[in-house]
Amino acid sequence: MSEIRVPLLDLKSQYSQIKPEIDAAIQRVVDAQRFVLGPEVAALEAEIAAYCGAGHAVGCASGSDALLLALTALGIDEGDEVICPSYTFFSTAGTIARMRARPVFADIDPESFNVSGATLRAAAERTTRLKAIIVVHLYGRAVEMREVLELAEDLGVPVIEDGAQALGAHDSQGARVGTQGRIGCFSFFPSKNLGGYGDGGIVVSEDPALAETMRSLRVHGETSKYAHSMIGFNSRLDAIQAAVLRVKLRYLDGWSEARGRVATLYSEQLAKSGAGMGGGDFAELKLPIRLPTAAPLPAQHTFNQFVVRVPADRRDALRQYLGSCGIASAIYYPIPLHLQECFAEFGPVEGVLPTAERAARETIALPVYPELSRDDLEFIVQTLRDFFDN
Ligand SMILES: *Cc1c(COP(=O)(O)O)cnc(C)c1O
Repeated sequence: MSEIRVPLLDLKSQYSQIKPEIDAAIQRVVDAQRFVLGPEVAALEAEIAAYCGAGHAVGCASGSDALLLALTALGIDEGDEVICPSYTFFSTAGTIARMRARPVFADIDPESFNVSGATLRAAAERTTRLKAIIVVHLYGRAVEMREVLELAEDLGVPVIEDGAQALGAHDSQGARVGTQGRIGCFSFFPSKNLGGYGDGGIVVSEDPALAETMRSLRVHGETSKYAHSMIGFNSRLDAIQAAVLRVKLRYLDGWSEARGRVATLYSEQLAKSGAGMGGGDFAELKLPIRLPTAAPLPAQHTFNQFVVRVPADRRDALRQYLGSCGIASAIYYPIPLHLQECFAEFGPVEGVLPTAERAARETIALPVYPELSRDDLEFIVQTLRDFFDN
């Protein structure tokens, strides 16, 4: 790749806008010399709970640990089955397998890239010992929760929401990500919309008993000093992360709105230059469908990623071309989880989840971040056009 003109995400630019506040927040923790949990973490938990409209929030060491805490608190056991999408980040299913439970992979809807009531139902038909469902609000787009909750109630199992990419998004009924299932899980990995300066995560729940269990599990299952009624693990949130995140949380909605504006501009510019209009390869480029308009909150999509589809046989060449023009891109995700070697024992075989497999072949993520300039965006669209015209 030549020198990068447009990165996938520009965290340096974000930091430069809020540097004095961030530096002061970090200094406050250093001055206090309290680095693990403590008042900063408690304050962040209260602020995230309020932001999500959830009763309780418990900070932990990563989004993956948030999923582990949720699965452990819900009593998922060896040999239990947990449905999750095949088309998601590894961690969603990796944590199920870490519990010695069995991920049962669901296909996705081709437009939203999310699971739906129908794809979850099809997965449920392959189960005999189903104990929970994990939905993933992929790329920042909220899953339609009503049909998921209806199905879960029919099946008598709890829903865990993996909202790692979608803090602040709402479904079309206005339900906020993380608060509809029994437990919502979020990641503060630096590339998420609310990213820390290192790893971090949080769980939210309406259920005080579940929240208390997770609060204890993150400190080895301790219930009072050195007394353990269950076996947990070490998954605490750093105070420095909490202090940074508390500053950034105040900007989150503004940043998500700006991402929505970038996404809308992409759609307009791409449509204007003929993408998705039928006829020719460029016309084969498919936008995230049914984009919300420049989003007055609540937004259905927080655009942690801006992902389009291109013909599978040209995707690698396109990435290379973009790279040679200084434009970063990424593939989320090139291998659906049911085809990962380490999950081979769980199945299903190739062909059973065709929509996930097709998405893995056709999708490409383009740069999206609040500070992305109109000039850079037009340059990206022109570069896409040039590639498909030649
Ligand atoms: C990032 C992510 C996770 C894991 O979060 P970490 O903080 O990296 O452990 C889980 N699920 C999804 C969908 C993610 O995007």
